[in-house]
Amino acid sequence: MIAVLKQGTDEKQMENLIAWFKGQGLDVHVSKGEFNTILGLIGDTAKIDIDLLQGLDMIESVKRITEPYKNANRKFHPDDTVVEITPDIKIGGGHFQFIAGPCSVESREQVLSIAEEVKKAGASILRGGAFKPRTSPYDFQGLKGDGIKLLEEAKKVTGMPIITEIMNANHLPMFENVDIIQVGARNMQNFELLKELGKTDKPILLKRGLAATIKELLMSAEYIMAGGNQQIILCERGIRTYETATRNTLDLSAVPVLHELTHLPVVVDPSHALGIARMVKPMAMAAAAAGADGLMIEVHNDPQHALCDGAQSLTPAQFADLAKRTREILAVVNG
Ligand code: PEP
Ligand code: MN
Repeated sequence: MIAVLKQGTDEKQMENLIAWFKGQGLDVHVSKGEFNTILGLIGDTAKIDIDLLQGLDMIESVKRITEPYKNANRKFHPDDTVVEITPDIKIGGGHFQFIAGPCSVESREQVLSIAEEVKKAGASILRGGAFKPRTSPYDFQGLKGDGIKLLEEAKKVTGMPIITEIMNANHLPMFENVDIIQVGARNMQNFELLKELGKTDKPILLKRGLAATIKELLMSAEYIMAGGNQQIILCERGIRTYETATRNTLDLSAVPVLHELTHLPVVVDPSHALGIARMVKPMAMAAAAAGADGLMIEVHNDPQHALCDGAQSLTPAQFADLAKRTREILAVVNG
């Protein structure tokens, strides 16, 4: 980190500031120019509050040289992280997976039939919401613990690992047999939840918040990783922009940007990004072309009557087509 002092800062003030930095465990390299003095801070500056520094009278500007996310940073971990869901199912570092299933688990018949269908079409991980973060408290809130039990049953029948969203750390005991815990967009900055997930040994799929920057997504991953859990899968699911033609705007540039900044795998969810079923396939193919490590796709056996997100849900046949076309893209990209 570099701090440029204002012209005319007196020696005593500067000495006090340097002493404070040293008290924070940093080495300080002082470089005196004709007009300004520059302090080079060497060491772990992650804990330094850049806004606080910026607010000091004697400071002209402050710039971070190293990003404050150490665990997630590719600079310190150049090799891709491969998240192992099962010995045969891995995400990242060249391993691509289709995660598919309904927005929410609605009934045994629904989840079992969708699970069988998406598996046939090439999905390797079954998704389904049991705790649903709905905008309206009057909308279907999910089957909660019973929904997780139904997912477990589908896992037993199909052999597919399961992913479902957590909204409250107190619910963690219910997630014992869940293979990947999803943190939804609305909880990306629920720091207490992230800290608790950092203490678990489960793979976590962390969705980008509705209005979160890429750096904020990485800082949220850092919260989990700082607690000891390194098995994070990032998920771009569309962000809120001024555009109203689609539910959100799929920021596909996040895929190559994230691959450059972090070693963590990146999955794309075009269902929540587009919000319109017929537009999911082209963006799924585009995500694969952009280098995504997997796709999360909402599939429903009867989208018109889905209790949640029917408009963006594909039928199993549409999903099968999406998976086939995406594999063709992957063959070209990896060929
Ligand atoms: C979901 O995957 O069902 C979901 C609620 O997604 P998001 O958090 O991206 O809105
Ligand atoms: Mn949904």
